Amino acid sequence: MTTTPTAGAAINAPAAPTPGAAVALRPVPTGAARITGGFWSARQAANRRQALRTGYEKLESAGNLRNLRIAAGQETGEVRGPIFMDSDVYKWLEAAGWEHGREADAELLGWIREVTATVAAAQAADGYLDSVQQVRGGGERYTDLPWSHEHYCAGHLFQAAVAVVRGAGDTGLLDVAVKLADHLVATFGPGKVEDVDGHPVVEMALVELYRETGTREYLDLARWFVDARGHGITERHGKQPTYFSDRVPVREQTTVEGHSVRAVYLTAGAADVAAETGDAELLAALVRQWEGMVSTKTYVTGGIGARWDMEQFGDHHELGPDRAYAETCAAIGSVQWSWRMLLATGESRYADLVERTLYNAFLPGVSLRGTEYFYVNALQLRDGAHPDEERSVAHGRRPWFDCACCPPNIMRTLSSLDAYVATTSADGVQLHQYATGTVRGADGAELAVTTDYPWDGTVRVEVTAPGTGEWELALRVPAWATGARAVVAGRPVDAEPGDYLRVRRAWSAGDVVELVLPLEVRPVEADPRVDAVRGCVALERGPLVYCVEQPDLPEGLVADDVRVHVAELRTARAEHRADLLEGVTTLTFPARRAAAAATGPLYRPASDDPAPASLPEVVEVTAVPYYAWANRELGPLRVWLPRA
Ligand SMILES: [Zn+2]
Repeated sequence: MTTTPTAGAAINAPAAPTPGAAVALRPVPTGAARITGGFWSARQAANRRQALRTGYEKLESAGNLRNLRIAAGQETGEVRGPIFMDSDVYKWLEAAGWEHGREADAELLGWIREVTATVAAAQAADGYLDSVQQVRGGGERYTDLPWSHEHYCAGHLFQAAVAVVRGAGDTGLLDVAVKLADHLVATFGPGKVEDVDGHPVVEMALVELYRETGTREYLDLARWFVDARGHGITERHGKQPTYFSDRVPVREQTTVEGHSVRAVYLTAGAADVAAETGDAELLAALVRQWEGMVSTKTYVTGGIGARWDMEQFGDHHELGPDRAYAETCAAIGSVQWSWRMLLATGESRYADLVERTLYNAFLPGVSLRGTEYFYVNALQLRDGAHPDEERSVAHGRRPWFDCACCPPNIMRTLSSLDAYVATTSADGVQLHQYATGTVRGADGAELAVTTDYPWDGTVRVEVTAPGTGEWELALRVPAWATGARAVVAGRPVDAEPGDYLRVRRAWSAGDVVELVLPLEVRPVEADPRVDAVRGCVALERGPLVYCVEQPDLPEGLVADDVRVHVAELRTARAEHRADLLEGVTTLTFPARRAAAAATGPLYRPASDDPAPASLPEVVEVTAVPYYAWANRELGPLRVWLPRA
């Protein structure tokens, strides 16, 4: 194997480009960005105290760890669960690794070492590792890669190993990962087995393992896996290629399609390959796909993957709210992809989507307590809906799933969230997400960020250590932030939405930049081609999408029957309620009760547009942030509200 020096080990972040990578921005060094208070800190605390601990118990009770012990010969019996059971263990290990990096925890480190020993014991002598395949598959390898998830599990192991090294400094899992990666390099590629896994993730994982170890062959294999798609590999297995992101070569693709998590894990990996190989053509193809996704296939929440049918993207503008799939894992994949596009280009639109997705598509996936999860994130729950499939939101959040991809994926994202706050470049320091905490740039510069975001739009950045010479502080001004303004060392400056506010100077300790993002209530409507919500309005305030949820409605009014006037929505009163849902800002506005909605026939002669007088009854309605729904009594919900 060929090794070269890398930056990986010094970076406590899931994606750490090497010094030679073609990127505009770089993650900050280990411990240099810390969320220490406020909104996300509370979510991270629930993740650390509750989710990681119950997650460890679930891996035991659901059989994931037992599967590995059976493969290791330490227990006998049949393995349980879906074929990718090992990946849940690895995602939990990744979360534990990042979490230990945030703050040392002896109990967590003990579990990391114990689980690592189990994983290592299950590994075959030649490096192969997949407990379900080793036991249930009778030792057969790679005979059905579109379905078998063998590389998928390997990829999550690589990501976990990198996290455990970067976060906990423990190399035990990395030894297992390197052995498996070397086995993959020896087995797959041109002139060897020319096949790809049906579920991407190994691409970005191999690039990260290259970044951590400097082993060039891992990057080469990742690049080959990216370029091998779109050339009929899954059809050779007798399977339909669209679902597997295998219909079109990545370089020729113009939009996202097929299984949503597969699609965005692949593009995230391709972005890593493009960065490490300086591949401008590949990056341009990814920009096109990202633009296609954002302009036609993304929910107002940032969620992606509209169809229950095979968890796939729908057609353009197929974004119905009630049967929205919008898997939590797909939101996480979208964040990972956008983050890599941000590093590559430095463009704020990618950080804008990261923000929208984190607050409104990722966070709804976990309860405020931290231990119950949504797999699917519908934007509407109808009155009288009954739970059918295990994943349906009509169940409310659940403590685990037979297919438990989402819970540990949420855990690793919250544990690594500090890494998404800031970057550095030759110009200086960039702040992309706003949270109370500290950021350290190059040359000793240090910043203290204080904010009550997303409830309040003021972000105060104090230079606590000035660093050396002139450098630029860049603060993202979200595209929604019309009227944003800033004060730099007492002087007002313009802040253009959809770009970065850039201030370049020789800083002194105590200098303050204050950014004020207006948090007016914003009624939004969809492109009329989104038929399912035509004539409806959603409410946003700051980075948050709101919803009308049954517990906040007056007696006798069902969420289904709320009708709104945009002019009245604009008068909504924002009130911070510390007592509600762990503290949220609610929006209260006049609305109308639908007239006789439930008594007419299902289909009826079209009426003229109603005059306001025909819906005379004004009721006061309160909306809450969508991420917080279903934390009280489960009932009807609407993000999109029909106009009166
Ligand atoms: Zn999932």
